Amino acid sequence: MPPTGKIYDYLVIGGGSGGLASARRAASYGAKVALIEGSGRLGGTCVNVGCVPKKVMWNTASLAEAVRDAKEYGFHEAGSTAFDWKYLKLKRDAYIKRLNGIYERNLEKDEVEYISGMASFVSKNSVTIGDGQEIHAKKILIAVGGQPIIPKVPGAELGIDSDGFFDLEHQPKRIAVVGTGYIGVELAGIFHTLGSEVSIFSRTKEILRPFDHIIKDTLKKEMLSTGIKIVTDSHVQSLSKSDSGINVNYEAEGKQGSQEFDLVLWAIGRKPHVEKLGLEKVDVELTGQGHIRFNEYQETNIPEIYSLGDVGGIEQLTPVAIAAGRRLADRLFGPPQFKNSKLDYKNVPSVIFSHPTAGAVGLTEEQAQAEYGAENLNVYVSEFSGMYNAMKTHKTPSAFKLICAGPEEKVVGIHLVGLGSDEMLQGFAVAVKMGATKADLDDTVALHPTSAEELVTLTKGNLKKN
Ligand SMILES: Cc1cc2nc3c(=O)[nH]c(=O)nc-3n(C[C@H](O)[C@H](O)[C@H](O)COP(=O)(O)OP(=O)(O)OC[C@H]3O[C@@H](n4cnc5c(N)ncnc54)[C@H](O)[C@@H]3O)c2cc1C
Repeated sequence: MPPTGKIYDYLVIGGGSGGLASARRAASYGAKVALIEGSGRLGGTCVNVGCVPKKVMWNTASLAEAVRDAKEYGFHEAGSTAFDWKYLKLKRDAYIKRLNGIYERNLEKDEVEYISGMASFVSKNSVTIGDGQEIHAKKILIAVGGQPIIPKVPGAELGIDSDGFFDLEHQPKRIAVVGTGYIGVELAGIFHTLGSEVSIFSRTKEILRPFDHIIKDTLKKEMLSTGIKIVTDSHVQSLSKSDSGINVNYEAEGKQGSQEFDLVLWAIGRKPHVEKLGLEKVDVELTGQGHIRFNEYQETNIPEIYSLGDVGGIEQLTPVAIAAGRRLADRLFGPPQFKNSKLDYKNVPSVIFSHPTAGAVGLTEEQAQAEYGAENLNVYVSEFSGMYNAMKTHKTPSAFKLICAGPEEKVVGIHLVGLGSDEMLQGFAVAVKMGATKADLDDTVALHPTSAEELVTLTKGNLKKN
């Protein structure tokens, strides 16, 4: 319970990636800071139902792959891939709980006051958590994140969303994943690699719509070749209970269809978590899609009310929310050299924890064509089989694309899919951010034998022909 009459310098609504980072940075400058979190546990989506437990599951699935591969490397006695989902869930939950505790202790250590409750605006400078008391502050940050969308179709409640994925006590056998964004693709890949039968329903012929074709096409082909079914051009019309499962009733390529599954997972997108915030009381402006509108300085249309992270609908990634939060606190409470501090939203790298992983930084080929004109681009492509495959029957594909613009061949996009892409990309993202050219990459001595060396050994022979 907050003390009455106190006026905070900075009140942060939402104890997720962005809110925690901003609150702690502001307090480090001596600001009087409070943070309100409504779910009862700190860390937000990333820690509780996002990046962190997902990566544990991806690691688990990768181990199942490694156990299978081990036999081909001569480990004849390599163990079975029978897997105890419940055991892992208990350990994973305990790990997340430990993280929740660490976040709480960090707030205490940094002297950020932690208030538990759902915040709702009363006025421009005050909020309530529904206990009749008002909490006052000079500046307020809205960092309330997002939540999964469940479509309005009959029987939708028979399915679960990505939050529900982390509540599963057992591994279902037959699974339908509806949606082909990175979350759908990642969760489908985890289930499949751990032995479930998975069908993905895509509204188009593609998966992973915002990504470059080299990622979309390579991953789609690999998913199909390893046994994931993709129902393209499909529209799920309803879910209904059957004797032994859930029927997905759909239309695909003009024909009606119905298939039975043990679990249906909706992964059709996320929406901003604003409905309980009472934004109408302060007239904070929203975008057409209901996200909070903010400028490059994280300012909303209302002075002294700021916002960042997923609730803004731009680059919805944990490191983006953290970086925006810290820079905002630097600017508002830090020393004068930070008076223009803001996050540069250009060239944000992102990875997909698929099987194999994929990652991208900069422009897709289509975006680069729109920005520079196709005639001003050199696009280098390398499709290869990484050396890890040498002893394997199934050759997991790798495919890299380097997009260079202008006569100086400035690198404006890198797109990777293949084993190790997730760890490979970070260093190349630094190079792109620094304005590296193809000549800079060529000048860098390769690391051998690795997959990463492909990016610094691309020649004219790799130029893509249209
Ligand atoms: C399945 C999944 C996997 C993901 N994987 C990755 C990944 O691998 N890498 C990556 O970078 N990103 C990943 N993300 C995205 C990442 O989790 C988000 O981008 C990040 O958490 C956004 O941070 P945020 O601070 O904006 O919001 P959040 O972390 O969502 O925090 C918002 C907090 O505000 C609280 N809140 C909401 N309303 C109120 C209120 N009225 N009062 C008080 N508190 C409130 C919420 O309870 C929540 O704790 C993933 C997301 C999902 C769903």
